[in-house]
Amino acid sequence: MSNNNLLVIGSGIAGLTAAQAAAKNGFTVHLVEKDGVLGGKAATYACKATNNCAKCSACLVLQVRAAVEAEEGIKVYLHSRVSRCGGQPGNYQVQLKTPAGEVEIQVAGIIVAAGFSPLAPEKRGELGLGWQRGVISALELEQALAREGKFVKAYPGVQKIGFVQCVGSRDLALGNEYCSQVCCMYALRLARKIKHELPDSEIAVFYMDIQTFGRSFDKYLKEIEEVAQIKLVRGIPAKVFSFPYEKVTVRYTDSLSGRVESEQFDLLVLSTAITPENELTELAQTLGIEQNRFGFLANLEPGNYQSSKKGIYVCGTCQGPKSISDSIAQARAVVGQLLTDQATR
Ligand SMILES: Cc1cc2nc3c(=O)[nH]c(=O)nc-3n(C[C@H](O)[C@H](O)[C@H](O)COP(=O)(O)OP(=O)(O)OC[C@H]3O[C@@H](n4cnc5c(N)ncnc54)[C@H](O)[C@@H]3O)c2cc1C
Ligand code: SF4
Ligand code: SF4
Repeated sequence: MSNNNLLVIGSGIAGLTAAQAAAKNGFTVHLVEKDGVLGGKAATYACKATNNCAKCSACLVLQVRAAVEAEEGIKVYLHSRVSRCGGQPGNYQVQLKTPAGEVEIQVAGIIVAAGFSPLAPEKRGELGLGWQRGVISALELEQALAREGKFVKAYPGVQKIGFVQCVGSRDLALGNEYCSQVCCMYALRLARKIKHELPDSEIAVFYMDIQTFGRSFDKYLKEIEEVAQIKLVRGIPAKVFSFPYEKVTVRYTDSLSGRVESEQFDLLVLSTAITPENELTELAQTLGIEQNRFGFLANLEPGNYQSSKKGIYVCGTCQGPKSISDSIAQARAVVGQLLTDQATR
């Protein structure tokens, strides 16, 4: 191998996994992260275990992060970005903007793992996110539970909680027809965790469709409804109202009964869509690679994670919505593909 340097952009679970796998295969990895810590969003999520592990994978991120921090073959650049990229496959010349100044590196290949951003609140402003008291995003709930440890500590006095699914996903008006893949899974697990801690709480989940996850999903759903007494309501609120002042009132059409209903909650949690990372277009332009019609980074074809440019690969949620375990699997597959491409070049 003439040049055994590799650039990984983004240190969420996809970038961490790719960096770790590449270092194990003899690469010197330059891991560039624009934030001040490694781990991306999933490193800030709560453990969703009740009496048993809920298999949410959040703790895996912390394990992989610790392994990457201990790995000598990985050079980490925090608060850093790619400012220029030239050269050709096998020998890209990349300029990094780091707190210590501009750094030039020459790399054999590039793996982009720049992650996602949650839907901008104003895109579904009628649901109150960002301006209506008592309305939060699921990301805020994850982070508050991780920070405070207990729901009652994070949200004292809250007894009645509503989850609203598919906010900005499967949404033709926004041009986001895709399913965000993970929100049914995390919302049900979060609801289950809250109910476990607060058995007297009332929880409703408003959905239009439920994305199944895992082989034992039907059993899990039954347990959610019958044992945990979490109400699943087929119908998505179109609007929220702040009347009375201390409650969030939602009005929705129950698509099973056809009736227009309204209900009041102390807290409304919106499962907002996984959308392209805020700076992804800028990064794609710097690297000279294409985005798909939703703005995620385009890969050549299913199962082939080369971008539109040879020697540059994409993995994790910058390529499309996916779970932690799917991001890990894809990042490993990308390193495998890169090694094969190098061997056959
Ligand atoms: C509310 C919520 C809850 C979820 N809960 C679960 C769950 O319980 N289980 C599960 O499996 N999945 C869950 N997911 C999905 C999970 O968040 C993703 O699968 C995971 O975060 C994907 O990791 P990633 O590395 O692709 O992206 P990210 O976690 O977004 O990491 C990307 C990293 O790249 C960095 N970056 C971005 N652009 C640049 C740039 N230009 N230069 C340098 N660095 C850059 C970012 O700062 C970030 O650190 C949840 C998602 C949401 C929204
Ligand atoms: S973080 Fe998730 S996978 Fe890890 S122990 Fe908790 S519930 Fe289980
Ligand atoms: S995962 Fe569930 S909540 Fe998320 S977009 Fe798909 S169907 Fe909607």
